[in-house]
Amino acid sequence: MARGNCNNHPPSVFFPSDGVGVEAAKKICASCPVKDPCLAHALEMRIDHGVWGGASERQRRRMLKARRLAARAHHPAEETQVDIEVFGVRS
Ligand code: SF4
Repeated sequence: MARGNCNNHPPSVFFPSDGVGVEAAKKICASCPVKDPCLAHALEMRIDHGVWGGASERQRRRMLKARRLAARAHHPAEETQVDIEVFGVRS
């Protein structure tokens, strides 16, 4: 975060309340030098709120769902275990 473009903006910019705000935050992220690790961190930590790594909350939910489905297709037994550990229930 210390090297991110968000250092030059108030944190509230990255926790917008509408789509216009989301697009404004994503624009700042677009040229961020740590965009990829920022997104990876948000996905790994299952951060629900805000724009991280240029991705909105909805986009990250979709990414996580796509990853789960892909992992399940390749390793059905392992993914089932991950679902139980991470989410507490099988999805
Ligand atoms: S990609 Fe991450 S570190 Fe960079 S500006 Fe966006 S929220 Fe900040």
